[in-house]
Amino acid sequence: MSQTEEPKHDVSPATLQAAWTEFKNIVGEENVSTQQAELKSHSGSEWSTYASLPGDVPFAILKPGSTEDVSEIMKICHRRKIPVTAYSGGTSLEGHFAATRGGICIDFSRMDKVLALHKDDLDVVVQPAVGWEELNEDLAKDGLFFPPDPGPGAMIGGMIGTGCSGTNAYRYGTMKDWVLSLTVVLADGTIIKTKQRPRKSSAGYDLTRTFIGSEGTLGLVTEACLKVTPKPATTSVAVSTFPTIRDAADCVFSVVGASVPVAAVEILDDVQMKCINDAGSTSRSWQESPTLFFKFAGTPSAVKEHVAIVQKLAKKAKSNSFEFARSDEEANELWQARKEALWSVMAKKQSSDDSVWTTDVAVPMSRLPEIIDETKRDIARSGLTGSIVGHVGDGNFHSIILYNKSQHGVADELVHRMVKRAIEMEGTATGEHGVGLVKRDYLPHEVGQTTVDLMRKVSFLPLCTLKRRSLTIVAMTDETRFRPAVLAQLRQDCAHGKAGSGRGSRVVGISMYPIVLKPK
Ligand SMILES: Cc1cc2nc3c(=O)[nH]c(=O)nc-3n(C[C@H](O)[C@H](O)[C@H](O)COP(=O)(O)OP(=O)(O)OC[C@H]3O[C@@H](n4cnc5c(N)ncnc54)[C@H](O)[C@@H]3O)c2cc1C
Repeated sequence: MSQTEEPKHDVSPATLQAAWTEFKNIVGEENVSTQQAELKSHSGSEWSTYASLPGDVPFAILKPGSTEDVSEIMKICHRRKIPVTAYSGGTSLEGHFAATRGGICIDFSRMDKVLALHKDDLDVVVQPAVGWEELNEDLAKDGLFFPPDPGPGAMIGGMIGTGCSGTNAYRYGTMKDWVLSLTVVLADGTIIKTKQRPRKSSAGYDLTRTFIGSEGTLGLVTEACLKVTPKPATTSVAVSTFPTIRDAADCVFSVVGASVPVAAVEILDDVQMKCINDAGSTSRSWQESPTLFFKFAGTPSAVKEHVAIVQKLAKKAKSNSFEFARSDEEANELWQARKEALWSVMAKKQSSDDSVWTTDVAVPMSRLPEIIDETKRDIARSGLTGSIVGHVGDGNFHSIILYNKSQHGVADELVHRMVKRAIEMEGTATGEHGVGLVKRDYLPHEVGQTTVDLMRKVSFLPLCTLKRRSLTIVAMTDETRFRPAVLAQLRQDCAHGKAGSGRGSRVVGISMYPIVLKPK
């Protein structure tokens, strides 16, 4: 694959100016923006782990109103070789939508309609800018529910892009389990529909799932048929504190091992609980100890039974306290603390030099107590403030690290060690946030170079106009933009023949996605 020809993009002013007129004719002048503030907000965010460079902005933002508009835009970009980045809610965390190759950004905000609800079939057809929270408000009127729950403000297009999950994944699965079919516009403007609406199908390749998690590199989702499910009759929340993070993780392991069908189980360590107290964003004060948040769902008697079993297992794992909600208000209040995690660490920023790095790994369940324990000790050794928080029922957790400009290297090393630890435990560099620009460097280590090569072959869409970092793009960049710890690891692996296109390969440059290696 190192022989892959580099697709040539054209972002010359003459091309973009000429395209601009064509774009205006498709979507109308009012739906094309070149305002600096909007371009900036469409290339990064305060919560992204990728620090956007000044040039990482698109030339223009286009807001199409239909699948046909998207198709016409893509035909132009394909003909003119203009790179394209998709944007829905803008809540992704790993620099997913930074326009590192310029070009245009397609903002789906005008495509925000629920097109059809088939109550009897338990499915709903939506456009990409429908938010999961708004969708659930709508569905609740019919006693229905759509489980994937990523960041507030996330929308279906981006949720498909990252293959997201959230707190409900332990019980209900991830985005991959809730999409029945997709309408997608390919890089050359071709419109495809992956499937009709049956709950199951053995007809051909599972293209629906291929697009989920492809981060806008394979096609642009313009419509999705999603599964929905009846809302559980009763839900409740319990909160339990533990002397150590290891005890809390051991408790999760035993609850999962006992197959108690809890709806969600989330861990927050002592640092995270302190941040929530300090932020004062919940109406009560919390014990600053490692804490598990459990959500229960089902019939009233099932919920009662599950709470009792979990309470017993928590006690066995040395819990200090176990408190469960006696009303919906109390349950919301307890759960709110979990939802405040990222914002409460961000509230600790003292100056514009401070940043927050939210990283995400997942391991097989049996390795969870060990990795959480080691990561916690590593954070303490680093001298940075960093919390542990996550969807531990799936073996997935995050660290939210506060650092200032001068500590960037320390934070980078810490994240690198955490990811390396997870991969060495047969886990993954990202359980749910996706690879974006930050985690892509780890893919060869996690799945092997041949698998990455296959991913690149899969993305051989015509000329790869989709995304500046489309999987088939091989563009050498400055090594300084590569994370030093990863580069050192790669060089070491290459020297030992573990990575690369052959024994004794040397890293000659780092592409936007794959590692470019040449025999010595
Ligand atoms: C406070 C907070 C909490 C979070 N918690 C979670 C969590 O619990 N679980 C979790 O999984 N994530 C979580 N996230 C991350 C984020 O919410 C998810 O990654 C979410 O799926 C992104 O959706 P979005 O609409 O914001 O996508 P965007 O950020 O707009 O885009 C995400 C990716 O999808 C691509 N894309 C966008 N639209 C389309 C389209 N129509 N077609 C094809 N590609 C497209 C983009 O190019 C990009 O690569 C959290 C984020 C925040 C800020």
